[in-house]
Amino acid sequence: ETLTDIDVAIIGAGPSGCIAASLLHQQGKRVIVIEKLHFPRFSIGESLLPCCMQWLEEANMLDAVNQAGFQFKNGAAFRYKEQYTDFDFSDKFTPGPGATFQVERADFDKLLADTAAEQGVDIRYGETVTTVDLIGKPRLTVTDANGEAYLIEAEYLLDASGFGRVLPKLLELEKPSTLANRSAIFTHIQDNIGKKEVDDRPFDRNKILISVHPQNRDIWYWLIPLSPDRCSLGVVGEPHLMGNSDLDLEVILMDMVNQEPGLKTLLADAEILRECAELKGYSANVSTLATDKFALLGNAGEFLDPVFSSGVTIAMQSASMATKCVVRQLNGEKIDWQSEYAKPLMRGVDTFRTYVEAWYDGRFQDVIFYDAPDNKIKQMVCSILAGYAWDEANPLVAESEKRLNLIVELCR
Ligand code: FAD
Repeated sequence: ETLTDIDVAIIGAGPSGCIAASLLHQQGKRVIVIEKLHFPRFSIGESLLPCCMQWLEEANMLDAVNQAGFQFKNGAAFRYKEQYTDFDFSDKFTPGPGATFQVERADFDKLLADTAAEQGVDIRYGETVTTVDLIGKPRLTVTDANGEAYLIEAEYLLDASGFGRVLPKLLELEKPSTLANRSAIFTHIQDNIGKKEVDDRPFDRNKILISVHPQNRDIWYWLIPLSPDRCSLGVVGEPHLMGNSDLDLEVILMDMVNQEPGLKTLLADAEILRECAELKGYSANVSTLATDKFALLGNAGEFLDPVFSSGVTIAMQSASMATKCVVRQLNGEKIDWQSEYAKPLMRGVDTFRTYVEAWYDGRFQDVIFYDAPDNKIKQMVCSILAGYAWDEANPLVAESEKRLNLIVELCR
């Protein structure tokens, strides 16, 4: 069997795939989404950035997300030894939404997929893309839920397969990341924080808390409230810095938590709700992001690092940018995929890259923990932390490395 009469085939029903499918469907394009798993399914990546609310709105999904009862998020807090800094996303340089949510991705991704399906998108679960042929029109081989293979022929192909990285693997586009090989160990907890305080300060449940290891600034922790009594908890570092890898993951995670006195206090009564998991070597890159036959979205393209929670925002931003080009190409225009998709997308990714690299070499940590920040500069930094990394009006976006270094000098 070969399915034809399809404009765009999309691999994966995560945030990038669902936003892309919805946007294309709104433009009258015939889309099909092939998803390997059945939803709900676990995914890491629970802290959203306000910038991504724009793409939810564009896809007519904002009401559904606003009504779902997710944990409100209005900023990011950072802690290192006794130093605490927070950023309120409503006090930022770039116009646009100033708040968002922290979500269990199993629920969030299912909500997006169900909303896309209600809009009329055909999503097929339990089906896996196994081969691709780009000689003529893009053709995919799909194994269905019964183990039977069928073909899909489409005018265009979007790879939204996340860490599955279907096209980078099948087309040999994989390119190593320049970022160090780090690992993350994480779980969900019943946090039982109650009225516990650190440095006379109650825990702000409306913000992600990023804590830095007191002796090794390369190691950091996330504490992401998901509800009034539950959090996602994780630690990130180079594997050799995270203790004896023969030990149980839960033992390693709690030992790392206990090395940071603030978290040790906050989480003294925490109970683990979910088996601890580990992801290693997740930073990845590709040699080609798009051609006139396919484009890579979200994590199927480049994934940097989790420290600024930029993954879902980049995923949705890429979906919005790519679908505009796809629609124009389907309507007969010639698209230069390098200059009209890959380069503009990478402008924002490169802004995040500047800040990720400067986080790990300590420059950006010095800026964050500087105790007399200039308000205007703080608003520009806040914009980037809120996800507005494509806003060229922000001087810290336009010349991110140079301007960041100037601020670092001021702080040092
Ligand atoms: P995904 O959400 O991964 O969706 C891809 C889908 O494709 C999956 O459902 C999968 O089943 C399907 N698929 C895979 N292979 C196939 C196939 N062969 N055929 C059919 N379907 C297939 N991001 C944030 O925004 N905030 C955070 O706080 C955050 N924390 C993170 C922490 C860590 C440790 C890591 C590693 C990442 C974190 N991220 C975070 C990044 C985030 O997880 C991803 O960027 C985001 O999920 C990418 O979305 P996506 O739509 O590209 O892919």
